[in-house]
Amino acid sequence: MEQHSIYLDNNATTAMHEDVIAAVHQANMLYGNASSMHMAGRQAALAIEESREALASLIDAEPSWIVFTSGASEANNTVFNIFKERIDLGSKRNRIITTTIEHPSIIETVKYMKQLGCKVDECPVDSTGLVDMEAMKNLLGDDVALVSVMLGNNETGTIQPVGEITELAHQVGAYVHTDATQAIGKIPVSMKELGVDYLSLSAHKFYGPKGIGALVVKTKAPYAPLVHGGHQEGGKRAGTYNTASIVGLGVAAKIALRDQPSECEKLWKLREMLRVGILERISNVVVNGNQEHCLPGTLDVSFPHAEGESILLYLDMEGIMVSTGSACASGSLEPSYVLLASGVDIELAHGSIRFSFGRYNTEEDVAYVLEKLPPIIKRLREMSTR
Ligand code: PMP
Repeated sequence: MEQHSIYLDNNATTAMHEDVIAAVHQANMLYGNASSMHMAGRQAALAIEESREALASLIDAEPSWIVFTSGASEANNTVFNIFKERIDLGSKRNRIITTTIEHPSIIETVKYMKQLGCKVDECPVDSTGLVDMEAMKNLLGDDVALVSVMLGNNETGTIQPVGEITELAHQVGAYVHTDATQAIGKIPVSMKELGVDYLSLSAHKFYGPKGIGALVVKTKAPYAPLVHGGHQEGGKRAGTYNTASIVGLGVAAKIALRDQPSECEKLWKLREMLRVGILERISNVVVNGNQEHCLPGTLDVSFPHAEGESILLYLDMEGIMVSTGSACASGSLEPSYVLLASGVDIELAHGSIRFSFGRYNTEEDVAYVLEKLPPIIKRLREMSTR
């Protein structure tokens, strides 16, 4: 029997592009420490600078704004640490605004900062997961140091009006950060157009290597390193350069810049095929998140009277890989906090499945899911005592 392997968990991570694999392999031969002045060092440094330029082109930023990090978690932590330090030093602007649906690398950082006495407000979202703009306006004030709002949500795909929020935040003199990790390569992302002061990203979400990402910081925005030590990244992030991974990120950035428009179209088509197909075949289904402002490859669906983890495991037995909520929050069997924050009923939140498409998915994959999913939901609903 043919063994299926259909990967629909591209928001958790993507498979590296073959050109990225080849480039990383080559770059592993660049053994010199990129901070060394001799030839081997300079060769590595040159490769790193080429990647910096490729990433800057992808997100419409200046190469000098880029600080390579181990990923978006570190980038997010760095931003919040900058403002924690300023507040600790007595800045009059001593309040931070974020939202209830951010990635755990922000939610948990905020929890920690609150324990240390920082003032952080979490702006609520509406039933589609969009930031409540009235609430945001009410929260803004001249005591706000930083506003941090993600661009595309990892669970529901909902895209926030970050440009609009940035304008409002700048009017009261606050700096703005966006976690653009899920948006890169799927929708056009221009840091200059968004107007944000800080932007986080991770290469493995757009077919690059894991463990490498960037914090992009405008020149005039405040900065403080999270990792102290050597003078790498102009003193902004210490530690010997991860040359091979940075090269991989650069190649992934070039591919993302080239392919983003066609990828966006393809991902949306597959997502819509699956959404329509599910609604046709399975009764009593709720599609979560905002359907207009949505990342192209993300489809989050709740199946009442069927438990998310059970659906995931049954799909896995058929060779279909999906997730319940986000990979970072899974393993806890807790319902999705993102859905709960959007006012989704707790039972629906427990029964949610995230399908996230990527460049290697096909229409045949969708057809296979549409064949296997309905009997699984039927069986689980029959087993349910309700
Ligand atoms: N932000 C968002 C929106 C994400 O989806 C992720 C990855 N799940 C991260 C931050 C963290 O990225 P990393 O694990 O690569 O640090």
